[in-house]
Amino acid sequence: MNPVEAAWEALEADLADYLRQKGLAPSCRAGCFACCHGLVTLSRLEGEALLPHLTEAQRARLLEEGPKRLALLGEGKDDPHFPSRFFRERRPCPFLEGGLCGVYPFRPLACRGLLTAGDPALCQPEAQAPRGHFLKAPWGMAHRRMEALWEEEGRRYGFVVIGELAGLLYLLLEGLPRGRAEVERLLEGLGVLGGRWGFQVVSPWRGQGGNPGG
Ligand code: SF4
Repeated sequence: MNPVEAAWEALEADLADYLRQKGLAPSCRAGCFACCHGLVTLSRLEGEALLPHLTEAQRARLLEEGPKRLALLGEGKDDPHFPSRFFRERRPCPFLEGGLCGVYPFRPLACRGLLTAGDPALCQPEAQAPRGHFLKAPWGMAHRRMEALWEEEGRRYGFVVIGELAGLLYLLLEGLPRGRAEVERLLEGLGVLGGRWGFQVVSPWRGQGGNPGG
């Protein structure tokens, strides 16, 4: 099993243990998909693990949606309100199919770690979920698994690329250059490098609980 699939499985086990111990039952259900309109980030390694599982129709939607997401990100990456604006516009994830995740077994850690035991109506963009609506510990568990994958990506490539789901998958599908300088040039040319919400190209992650160092 590759490290990404191992991380997906390990997080599921962590979450199941945590929820059992706390006696929590998430209200997240099949057919409940408000969070699939939000801004989802993933790393290159997760993207590379997801891509081979896409159907032709999903690849076609990605080819259509990826450039649009990159353009939106280019305009909004420095706007502190970009994620909430993006969420309110209700742009569905390109893998959302009839209210269900079309890549469910291969969905990113960020999707797995976003859980609530509260009223699903509060997940809607206009509800502006109150503090504590989304469970903090599951998100922390997902984040620690992300950090471990960033560390692995750093070992493998010498640098780490983190970005918006559809935009990054689109770039991977088109072929991301091998070297860091070329990747940065490409992202800079697209206007999506850096800023508050843009793509991050960072040095090998050391997994020490801080932020990735540039
Ligand atoms: S990958 Fe699946 S779970 Fe994640 S946002 Fe897209 S449709 Fe939703």
